[in-house]
This record gives sequence, C-alpha cells and structure tokens, in this order.
Amino acid sequence: MRPGQPYPARPLARTHPDPAPDERTSRALHTYSGLRTDLQPLPDDARPLKREEPRNMTHQPTVLVIGGGTAGNGLAVLLRTAGIAVDLVEAKADWNAYGSGITLQGNALRVLREIGVWQEVCAQGYSTDGVSITTPAGHVVFTQQDVHTGGDDLPATLGMQRPALQNILIAAVRASGTSVRLGCTVEKLAQDATGVDVTFTDSTSGRYDLVVAADGVSSSTRDAIGIPDRPVPTGMAIWRTPAPRPEGVTRTHLAYGGTAFIAGFCPTSDTTLYAYLVEANRDRAAIDPASYADEMRSLARGYSGFWDEIRDTITDPAQVNYTWFDRHLVEGAWHRGRVVLVGDAAHACPPTIAQGAAMSLEDASVLAELLSSHDVWDDALLTAYRDRRMPRVRRVVDASVQIGQWQLDGVRDADVPGLMGRTMAVLKELP
Ligand SMILES: Cc1cc2nc3c(=O)[nH]c(=O)nc-3n(C[C@H](O)[C@H](O)[C@H](O)COP(=O)(O)OP(=O)(O)OC[C@H]3O[C@@H](n4cnc5c(N)ncnc54)[C@H](O)[C@@H]3O)c2cc1C
Repeated sequence: MRPGQPYPARPLARTHPDPAPDERTSRALHTYSGLRTDLQPLPDDARPLKREEPRNMTHQPTVLVIGGGTAGNGLAVLLRTAGIAVDLVEAKADWNAYGSGITLQGNALRVLREIGVWQEVCAQGYSTDGVSITTPAGHVVFTQQDVHTGGDDLPATLGMQRPALQNILIAAVRASGTSVRLGCTVEKLAQDATGVDVTFTDSTSGRYDLVVAADGVSSSTRDAIGIPDRPVPTGMAIWRTPAPRPEGVTRTHLAYGGTAFIAGFCPTSDTTLYAYLVEANRDRAAIDPASYADEMRSLARGYSGFWDEIRDTITDPAQVNYTWFDRHLVEGAWHRGRVVLVGDAAHACPPTIAQGAAMSLEDASVLAELLSSHDVWDDALLTAYRDRRMPRVRRVVDASVQIGQWQLDGVRDADVPGLMGRTMAVLKELP
C-alpha cells in the first residue's frame, strides 16, 4: 500500500462456534491408518488425547511446526500469542521466499492483521480496489471493483514483493519467541497416545503434543504420515518476473487471450510490479533456464500498452520464474494422529483468483483458534478444523481451476467475473 493510507490495525473478532462437546470426545486419535513403518501407530487402547493438566498449570502444550512459509510462520506467531510453546524447523538455511510478487486479497490481509503485521504489510505493499480487464493491445475494457473480503476497513487487494512478505513474517516469528532452527528438518516421527517423538536431521530430538506440517505442496510430512493425495498439473504454466512500475499502473491489469491465455501485472510497491504470462505447460526440462528472459519477452510481444515498457525490462533470466499450475486437495482427513496439515500441504490451486496464500493463512488462523480454545487436542478437534476449512477451500480450488480450464478449452463466453464475484462473496464471511 502507498504509505499514508488510513487502514487501522485491530484484532479480529471470532464468530465461529466451538465443536459440540460430544463431537470433541467421541473419536479418539488412534483411528487413523496407513502410516509408514517408521511411524508407530497409537496402541489400540489409546484414549482421546487429553492433556493431564489444564493449560497454564503444569503442562505447557508444545507444537512443532515443520516449514517456515506463509502458513507455518503465521501459525507459529498465533500459537505463541496464545501462550503455546512452538518449535519451528525450516529446511532452507536462508529462510528466504523467492519470487517476484504476490497478490493478497482482503481475507489474507485480515489474518495478517490478526498476526500483528498489518502495519508493516500496509507500508511495504501497494493497495488497490479493482482490476482492469484489457484487450491484448492494452485498451481497458472495464474496471471491476474487487470485493472487500477482509472487511471495509482493509483494502480489497494488496500487491507486494514476495521476499518483503516473508521478511515481515520472519521478524514476527523471531519476536514471538518461537524457537527456530534453519537448514533442519524432520528425520523420523513416532507417535503414541500422548505425543509425538521427533528426530531431527541435526541429530537432536524432541517430544510434542502436536506436529503441524506446513511444508508446502510437495510436503514430505504428508507422505510420511500416509496421506495419499498429491498435486496434479492442470495443464497450464506461468512465467513471472519483477519489473519497475510504470507510473500509470495503479492496479492489476489482466488481458485474457492473445499469445498467452492470461497476461497480467500487479503493482507491488511505489516503484515495482510483478508481471506474468500464463500459457499451456511445456516440458520444463526442454527449456534452458538461461533462455527464460528471452522466452518471457517473446511471449510478451503479443501485448502492448504498459507491456511495451515492461517487456523491455525483462532481460535477466535469473529474475524470471517458470512454474506449472497444480490442483491439490486432500479429500480425507487432514491429520493422522497428532500430525496435521496446513496450507499448501493440504490444498493448492492455480493463482487465477490469487487465493493460495490467503487459504493458507486462514488455515493457520482457524487451527490456532481451535488449539488455543480447547484443552483437549484430539481427533475430533482436528477433524473439526478440517471440516470447517474444507467447503471454503474446495470452493476456491475449484473456481481457480475452472477459470484456467475455460481458457484451455477455448470457452469464449465463460463468466469469469461472475465466478470470481460469487467466490469472493463467500470469502467475505469469516473463515
Ligand atoms: C505461480 C504461483 C503464484 C502464486 N501467486 C499467489 C498470489 O498471488 N496470491 C496468493 O494468495 N497465493 C499465491 N500463490 C499460492 C501461495 O504461494 C501458496 O499458497 C502459499 O505460499 C502456501 O504457503 P505454505 O506456507 O503452505 O507453503 P510454502 O510457502 O511453500 O512454504 C513451505 C515452507 O516449508 C519449507 N519446507 C519444505 N519441506 C520442508 C521440510 N521437509 N522440513 C522443513 N521445512 C520444509 C519450505 O522451504 C518453505 O519455506 C501462488 C502460487 C504459485 C505456484
């Protein structure tokens, strides 16, 4: 957002009811199945996972978060705020998020405010309230006002540089008192009725009340606990790059059709934007990374207007990213025993409505709320988390994939604005 715009930071009011007490205690965590052999299943006589003492007495609950991306970082801060001890392990030694930019809708901003980083996000990002749909030549056909999914006191949409968002979240994790280990991951998980024993790759070990897999779309923790769902390519891929912001670009511009399926750009600060082109996916191995800038510039020749200025800046192949789109949704339980998925580990979708990070942040918010408001962390609570998230996440995943599929199928009269509008109207509700 441009500095100086008056969006106040305030805590988020919660409206969701707790799971019914009988639901909470009726299902024990040992009903899971399909774990790898290095995971020990809970014994048959295991009881629901009630902690021995109420919180703030002798047993302080301890959570391990695997992965320091958007979901893991957000969750760590929210749990620490609730007085829960958190260890976080991140595989990357530098804890960086690479990439050019990210579009954050209001519902993502709402959680970032809850995490306590809204002021920083607001100061470093670029807020907008609408999207201009253009022809490939750059003529604006119409400007659609975005729905304020985070409430009217937050912008509808904010673009920001991806590393900037990561750095803001890292600072919040550090300040929260989370114990962080970088360049480290989990070697082995073994759970019993009362906790999870974890061996780390740095030869240390620990025991936790709960382990949260926030390790992204290719989650190895998901594999380790025997959840079979995997991301599936949708048939599309995206070229992305950061670029200087031409002065006249004050909101996202999107052109459907032309040499690519979608060509767009979104301001990420007063001086920067990120630009992207979506086409049918190609064999990645056949594209030399040294040619990435040439590839993207060549595709961008089908577009003019602001693209004329942007295209000339696409010269450094190291700045250009090429990624396939995936659809991913874990259909069954999002947990096995005391190990639970959040974010892309549980669901991921093409960024056609820019909701992946928003859904990941909402997962973190809902899980933190449930964990901090219940003394019993059992199968019913983790099932309630998944059941609360699933309808909303499914709607986003399906809508995001549908918009791409219409392009792939060459449907000329597809009601993209209608589908987006209906989806955003739902997202305005609290998660
Ligand atoms: C091309 C593209 C564009 C996108 N654009 C947008 C957008 O504009 N707006 C939006 O809202 N969303 C967007 N998304 C989606 C968004 O990026 C993701 O939904 C979001 O980053 C998911 O956060 P996460 O924390 O679950 O996973 P990630 O951000 O992937 O974080 C996972 C973390 O776990 C770490 N890790 C992995 N394995 C291990 C391990 N074994 N042990 C420890 N650490 C591990 C990783 O290093 C990483 O730091 C986009 C996605 C793509 C592919």
